Amino acid sequence: MSSKSNFKNVKGTRDILPLESIRWQRVENVVRKKMEQYNFQEIRFPTFEYTDLFRKSTGESTDIVRKEMFTFADMGGRSLALKPEGTPSVVRMFLQYGFFTKGILQKFYYIERMFRQERPQKGRYREFRQFGAEVIGSSSAETDVELVKSAFDIFNELDIKGVELNINSIGCPKCRKNFIKELKGFLKGKLVSLCEDCRRRYDENPMRILDCKEDKGKIKGAPVPSDFLCDDCRAHFEEFENRLDFFNIKFNIENRLVRGLDYYTKTVFEFVNANLGSQNEVGGGGRYDELIKFMGGEDTPASGYAVGIDRLMLLLPEKEEKLGVDVYLVTFDEESDLEGGKILASLRQEGFSCDKDPMKRSVKAQFREADRQNAKWVIIIGENERKRGIVQLKNMNKGEQKEIPMEADKIVKELKC
Ligand SMILES: [Zn+2]
Ligand SMILES: [Zn+2]
Repeated sequence: MSSKSNFKNVKGTRDILPLESIRWQRVENVVRKKMEQYNFQEIRFPTFEYTDLFRKSTGESTDIVRKEMFTFADMGGRSLALKPEGTPSVVRMFLQYGFFTKGILQKFYYIERMFRQERPQKGRYREFRQFGAEVIGSSSAETDVELVKSAFDIFNELDIKGVELNINSIGCPKCRKNFIKELKGFLKGKLVSLCEDCRRRYDENPMRILDCKEDKGKIKGAPVPSDFLCDDCRAHFEEFENRLDFFNIKFNIENRLVRGLDYYTKTVFEFVNANLGSQNEVGGGGRYDELIKFMGGEDTPASGYAVGIDRLMLLLPEKEEKLGVDVYLVTFDEESDLEGGKILASLRQEGFSCDKDPMKRSVKAQFREADRQNAKWVIIIGENERKRGIVQLKNMNKGEQKEIPMEADKIVKELKC
């Protein structure tokens, strides 16, 4: 059916229609179940925050903050931004509500919409959905593994195959200093040939040049963070690897993986899937031991990740998704319709999904609708049934029809067996 209306959803946003939303629910239900099995607590946060939150935490030099944020001014002239990622809001909430108690872990998860002004393409939207988890208060590599494992549990439960894990360590501020010095030395002579972004990054955040797809070929042989790790960072990374091994989680060490955000320290990781083509990243995360202090809190280690649900949907195996209602009512006259409506009300109380025609249409039309709704059962009531105090209960899968007393509890008993 086409419409004459010129209204369309905004480019880069998406509408999720009834059958598609059954698939989304499947994913969201698995995310909630798995996160709760790991004892992550759900948090929800606003759609927009003060822009400064992202400038400070995500980082002034990142693509997200420089190019991709939707910002606008409120009536008082303060700059607000639609949230482009979850971690800054999680950290803000952690600080704002005084979650910090020394030695106590906070384990959060979220399912939220994010917004970035990127060029829309397959699997990339300007409004997109992510789930994520953050553990605040643990410096242990075991926590990083737990996070990775929770994501793989979700992929597995959803029967999503072929997700690969890339890992790296980008060190701590202490060991990074030496690395950055070496890297800048290596890049100095090449700077004129690098892309505009990288020339800027050279001063602001040179490590990110390793990530540049455009300049990949020009920086072959560049020093990488893992060559400069201090003893503490090296041991942390080894423990991360060993524990991944212990859980039989396969990984690739990707020594140029640095992730696009300023706040990462030590462990970084990403989930990729070759079936997604050039936008092959499903999600990723890492450790951000310095961020909470940097945002004005106590010195608190933390680690987290996020996964793009829109990308995941592209990998989710097809199942036959159907509209479905447990019981559909078909009646022959108005009084039966009233009686039947009462029965449906009781069945809903018992947890059955029920529906009926509200427009007094013909019996034939009512049956057609029962079919369209894939009703498992149809309750049929006419004058004859009313006089005898029964209903006809039709099992649509088996095609069998039975007479049942016109009492909700008797009908429920029949539906449950
Ligand atoms: Zn270090
Ligand atoms: Zn570049």
